[in-house]
Amino acid sequence: MATTSALSREVLAKYEPVIGLEVHVQLLTATKIFCGCSTRFGDPPNTNVCPVCLGLPGALPVLNAKAVEFAVRAAMALHCCINETSIFARKNYFYPDLPKGYQISQYDKPLAEHGYIEIPDDKGGVKRIGITRLHMEEDAGKSLHDGFPDSKDFTYIDLNRSGVPLIEIVSEPDMRAPDEAYEYLTRLKEIILYTGVSDCNMEEGSLRCDANVSVRPRVQEKFGTKTEIKNVNSFRFIREALEYEIERQIEVIESGGKITQETRLYNPNEGKTYSMRSKEEAHDYRYFPEPDLLPLVVDAEFQKRVRDSLPELPEAKRNRFVAEYGVTEYDAQVLTASQNLADQFESAARAARNPKRVANLVQTELMGRLKANGLAIEQSPISMKGVAMSADLAEAGTISSKMLKDLYDLAFERREDFPAIYEKEKPQQISDTGALEKMIDEVIAANPKQVEQYRAGKKTVAGFFVGQVMKASKGQANPAMVNELLTKKLER
Ligand SMILES: [Zn+2]
Repeated sequence: MATTSALSREVLAKYEPVIGLEVHVQLLTATKIFCGCSTRFGDPPNTNVCPVCLGLPGALPVLNAKAVEFAVRAAMALHCCINETSIFARKNYFYPDLPKGYQISQYDKPLAEHGYIEIPDDKGGVKRIGITRLHMEEDAGKSLHDGFPDSKDFTYIDLNRSGVPLIEIVSEPDMRAPDEAYEYLTRLKEIILYTGVSDCNMEEGSLRCDANVSVRPRVQEKFGTKTEIKNVNSFRFIREALEYEIERQIEVIESGGKITQETRLYNPNEGKTYSMRSKEEAHDYRYFPEPDLLPLVVDAEFQKRVRDSLPELPEAKRNRFVAEYGVTEYDAQVLTASQNLADQFESAARAARNPKRVANLVQTELMGRLKANGLAIEQSPISMKGVAMSADLAEAGTISSKMLKDLYDLAFERREDFPAIYEKEKPQQISDTGALEKMIDEVIAANPKQVEQYRAGKKTVAGFFVGQVMKASKGQANPAMVNELLTKKLER
């Protein structure tokens, strides 16, 4: 934890942090929200522009229907109520990367309200974090402060991003710890990815987060004065920034000072936040309804169409995986981390003879090796198809569990998938009845005491004999056949 001071645990524990998050998500439409310009990332600066997104006088915005559909889709996945009528509003401020002098956003009549995201609480249950509102707006351009020979003297503006569609998702101040903020963001990103309305790529700015944070004595109900931390570009940094900022605020209060309502920036190299501007300099945006756009009406039929197209969301999928495949909560979470992975697992499990065995192998054999090798599941050398193949081989008794483990080890060692390893290392399995009988006879002859026990009714001794035969065959005997032949001979 980033520590600002030598505050004792007792002092820190006297205060409760209150955190709210504002997240901007870029929608994956091909064109901008109010014009036909491309939204493609990385094109040469100022090539995807037109009179509308350059804010030239007289140009009129036309709303992109796909952007509305995507925004509604995200709002529904976040359990929001959709307002049938919402209003676009002008948010007025001057900034070099905002050529119109205002941003088209939504203000007192947003597209959607009253949603929530569930995060795990520390008692093994769930905590619901409220979503106040979700509204649509356009992005501004981008100021380029460095990377040019004369960057010392000039700032360049790239307006390719001007007019790219965004949704802003504002949470209730329901979070009480930086970890909760981290969980909220993780879940939010996961849900948005499932809906397919954004790639949530933080490096490219498709997901941006601002955090509001204050502290209050635990006995106090009224919120303390909050500060806003802006433009942090990873979930980890947001957690760190919050940890620092909470301690900083407690320190100020403990030393008799007052928190100033202000915007602060986080420097991840130093692990500290710095004041950017105080609230006195804050903008008065003078919102008013956008006169060039009609109220946005999302009727029941449109809503139904979007709702019907929603995929199974991570929460529901997790619960189903636990019920259907008997995996643990934790593994269900890993398996549903992306829709792609969840689909791979499911199609492999369904194609296998015994879906539960696939789930079981993922849990016992795959996860442990991934962890030991420091690999994420997407980097696994063994694909879900490979797991399914190994499950079928084990199910049929073609490979013993020891062989399976050895093959998994080899797959991780050589970074090759299971089918390839199996093809090369296919155990020379002994399925020749004569050879197996010979081994069994030897084992029986060498262990008369156990034979006696077995024949006296202690059937569990059979396991001992199977083990001995497997050992004698160096793990190459066909376990199913050994079982069958052994039983016959012992029962004789
Ligand atoms: Zn344009």
